[in-house]
This record gives sequence, C-alpha cells and structure tokens, in this order.
Amino acid sequence: MPGFEIFGEEEKKEINEVLDTGVLFRYEFPDQRKGIYKVREFEEKYAAYCGAKYGQAVTSGTAALKVALAALGVGPGDEVITQCFTFVATWEAIFDVGAVPVFGEIDETLNLDPHDLEKKITPKTKVIIPVHMMGAPARIHEIKAIADKHGIPVLEDTAQAAGASLNGKRLGSFGRCGTFSFDPVKTMTTGEGGMIITNDEKLWRAMSEYHDHGHDHVQNPGGRGGEGRSFIGFNYRMMELQGAIGLAQLAKLDGIVAAQQQNKAAIKKLVSKLPGVTFRTILDEKGDNASFLAFFLPTKEKAQAVNKVLGENGAGAIYFANNTWHYYPKWEHLLAGSTLAKSGWPFNEADGRRRVVYDPAALPQSAAIMDRLLVYPVPVKLSDERLAQIGAAIEKAASL
Ligand SMILES: *Cc1c(COP(=O)(O)O)cnc(C)c1O
Repeated sequence: MPGFEIFGEEEKKEINEVLDTGVLFRYEFPDQRKGIYKVREFEEKYAAYCGAKYGQAVTSGTAALKVALAALGVGPGDEVITQCFTFVATWEAIFDVGAVPVFGEIDETLNLDPHDLEKKITPKTKVIIPVHMMGAPARIHEIKAIADKHGIPVLEDTAQAAGASLNGKRLGSFGRCGTFSFDPVKTMTTGEGGMIITNDEKLWRAMSEYHDHGHDHVQNPGGRGGEGRSFIGFNYRMMELQGAIGLAQLAKLDGIVAAQQQNKAAIKKLVSKLPGVTFRTILDEKGDNASFLAFFLPTKEKAQAVNKVLGENGAGAIYFANNTWHYYPKWEHLLAGSTLAKSGWPFNEADGRRRVVYDPAALPQSAAIMDRLLVYPVPVKLSDERLAQIGAAIEKAASL
C-alpha cells in the first residue's frame, strides 16, 4: 500500500507554493496566482504519465466514475455492467446517474470474466466497467473486443491500479476513459481526489464542463469561459492544495511501485511455503503495481483454517469473502434496497414499483473463487521484523 507512507517534504513544498499565493481555487484569480495552476499541471502530467491526451481532476474516485458516466450520456433506462468484486463506489456511481448496475462474475484474475460479461449484455447496456482490482489488470483486450463488437464504450475503474500497466501500456488508457482515486489508502494520494483520463477531446470537454456546473470551458480548456452553458452539471472541482500534493506524489509513483514489487516478492516467497497454495492470475507481472499479494488455498475450509493460524500469530490476511466493502453478497444495503429516498429510488421506480432486485446467490463462479482467497496488502516500507513475523506465522500455518 501506499502513498501516505511516504508523505514528506516534497508534498509540503508543493503545498507551500499554493499557500504563498493564497489562491486555493483552480480557476480564475489570474493576477494573484503568479502563474501557479497546480490542478491543471497535475492533470497534464498525470495524463502524460498514463500516455493519454487529456486528464480531468475531480474530488474523488467516486466522482470520477460519476462524471465519466454522465459525460458518456448514461441515465435512467440504461444498464451498466461491472464486476462483483469491487468497492461499492463503482455501483454507487452507476445508480447516481440513474442507471442500473449489472454484476458480472470474476475469474482468477479477480476481475471481470469476459465470458460471463458477454452473457450479461442486453440492448440496455450502455457502458462496461471492468475494475483493475488490487493493482493488476482485468482481461482488458478480451473485454474491449466484446464491447467493440457490441458498440459499447469501456470505462476502466483504475482506482486501485495507478502506476500499473499491461505490456507497457498504462491501465486506464485502454478504454474510452479510465478513472483513478487518490483517497488516503490508494497507491498515491491527494487526501481525497480523483482523475479521469481519455484521448477523446469531446468527451473530456463534456467532463470538464459537467464537473463545474456546466460552465463553458471553451475559451481556454481548463479555464472558465463564462459565456453560458450547454447542459446542467454539478460541482466536483479539485482544490489547488490537492493538485499540489498530487504533483509531489506522482513524482514518487514509480518509486512506490518499485518498492512494493520488491516487498511483494519477499512476502510471496514466504507464502509459497503453504502446501497447495496457488496465486492470482496476473497477466503482466512487470506491470503489476504490487499493492496486494493475492493467493488461493485448495478449499474454503483450508483458507479459513490457515488464516486463523496466521491471525493468531500476528499476520492475518484479508478474507475478502467476508468483506462488506468489496464483495457483492456482503453488500447488505444493496441486497435490501436500502435508500434514504422515500420513493425507494433507485431500487424502486418513482411510482413505487420495484425496479431491480439483487440475489445474493447469483454469482456462484465468483463465490467459488472468493471463498478460497487470502490477500496481504503490500506496504511501501516493510521492516525485517515484520517480514520475519509473517514468515513465522506462515511456518505455523504450513504445518496444519
Ligand atoms: C477507492 C475506490 C473507488 C472510489 O474512490 P474514492 O476516491 O474513495 O471515492 C472506486 N473504485 C474502486 C475500485 C476503489 O477502490
């Protein structure tokens, strides 16, 4: 894990440049800001890092998904397919633009299974969102090919995969657009924040205007025109302080990934001693951002027994099958259709008719994978003591 571990003087220096001007807002104040446009610079550098033409900074990874879906024209009556192993934000954004999330199975990449995806496409499918969970790619070429065949755009949720790539091409740059999160536990952080990258200028302009109340950004992309608006929008603007932190963290990203790759390899060597252990399918080991080590035991019972011993010895792994943040059958509010709206929207129509029901048992292929899965987060800084503790716990678990 991540950027917060190495927050330091570089971030403070960037922040101070903003504080010295007193201009915390990304637009306007041309005289006071002394040429400093941190958010704009962060957008340009982040997009360039990813090999994309345009970057649009926003307030969070969730906002990035929402702004991207809005710019892609998604709304009520539409369906968006994503995967059952992701953070709740992915489907919150789909509901928030008025569409209905449809959940696909995962395979041993722990990401969207292309075969199941194809079965779930209907005439209502308007966008497909593969999620590059835990820093490693979905089968993006197969997913893209299926989406292209049906004329459906792909939005990559790359929230957990900053700095990751597949055969030399950055994750997030394969689809029509890709979204990132810079929240406190992501690979790089701006405290809160998000980014969308795309090569599509028209889409980028729509995102730029939508995220700023629909304000006309025509005169100066990244600046405000003020002539009028082409459509209604909202406010998802990133602050200059966040842009400043983003610049410092982006400069550290390759170093973060290199350190994590080294630490992941050290932990993996220990985990390999568990009898019957196998590892997550990673399509490109070199491109892995290495923020997590994911491994399987032969059975659900074995995975739970091993993790019990690991936990008792101070080195418990994450058992995502029971995780209420990231896995479909554990999203109790989704399954129950819980919402603040008195009408029951988005689970009910405005007239009270039930609009969508989610069956917890709908995804058996994923359950068979998740039940056997254990995951270690990989830190940037790994002490010899911690590594020895993990090693000792694994020795104990290996003798079960
Ligand atoms: C963190 C995350 C998000 C949301 O990002 P925030 O910045 O926390 O809003 C979206 N999708 C995935 C897969 C995430 O892990």
